[in-house]
Amino acid sequence: MAAEMASGANVAALRRVLEGARRVVIFTGAGISTESGIPDFRGPGGWWTQNRPIDFADFLTSEDMRREAWHRRFALEPMLAAARPNHGHRAIAEIFRRGIVQAVITQNIDGLHQDSGIPAKSVIELHGNTTYAKCLSCGRRYEIPEVRDIFRQSGEGPVCLDCGGFVKTATISFGQPMPEPEMEQARAATLSCDLFLALGSSLVVYPAAGFPILAKENDARLVIINREPTPLDGIADMVIHGELGSLLGGIAGIP
Ligand code: NAD
Repeated sequence: MAAEMASGANVAALRRVLEGARRVVIFTGAGISTESGIPDFRGPGGWWTQNRPIDFADFLTSEDMRREAWHRRFALEPMLAAARPNHGHRAIAEIFRRGIVQAVITQNIDGLHQDSGIPAKSVIELHGNTTYAKCLSCGRRYEIPEVRDIFRQSGEGPVCLDCGGFVKTATISFGQPMPEPEMEQARAATLSCDLFLALGSSLVVYPAAGFPILAKENDARLVIINREPTPLDGIADMVIHGELGSLLGGIAGIP
């Protein structure tokens, strides 16, 4: 499918596609949150452009890496704590309120879909959530300020107060197994939708990028909206290149 630049005509066309859909899956990547002040992965100033991501195996085996992971996370805290849902998140929440959205599948770890009013049970976080932490051994939840206090006192990568296990942000790192329940929910939602909207993802990170392919193979309509081309544009039924906030606002009919 040849991509089109954002225009009134394709906003109107997409609004009609949405009105004709009965079971919609919305799939989001880092691009939905850039207008909230959180850089994406590959764009200029991206979170990890200056720092090589820390693999899960390195986190498990190296105290230096655990300390480094937490230093990086605390450095991001002012930006993450200040981030609020933007026009794009609010437009998705408005579409959700119409009752046609099966699930919002997200690669994002910022919790902004939930903050926009979508119930947590309808947001499938494929890569976890960085707004809190968990013990890797017993699963006890920790809030970030609490972890920072423990870190300041000990000067070491924080360990669980209950069981001594390593405490890590509740995200899925490179090399860490994907969360089975979320993968299964995402698969079920994808297989039951008739319209799959992929928004603000470069669609190069697998297995997440496999869901739009699965939707298409299962005869759903695939619509991709992104600032720049993606490797899946060729299989999509509609591709629009543009800024998500204004486009989604137009589609959802919110000013
Ligand atoms: P990505 O950075 O690979 O791709 C984002 C895409 O969105 C890019 O193609 C970019 O051109 C586009 N984009 C950026 N702003 C846009 C806008 N306003 N309108 C339209 N398009 C826009 O991100 P990804 O595909 O989600 O994969 C990267 C991984 O990094 C994810 O797995 C995610 O876990 C993680 N990540 C998450 C966040 C977050 O939670 N906000 C931020 C950065 C990275």
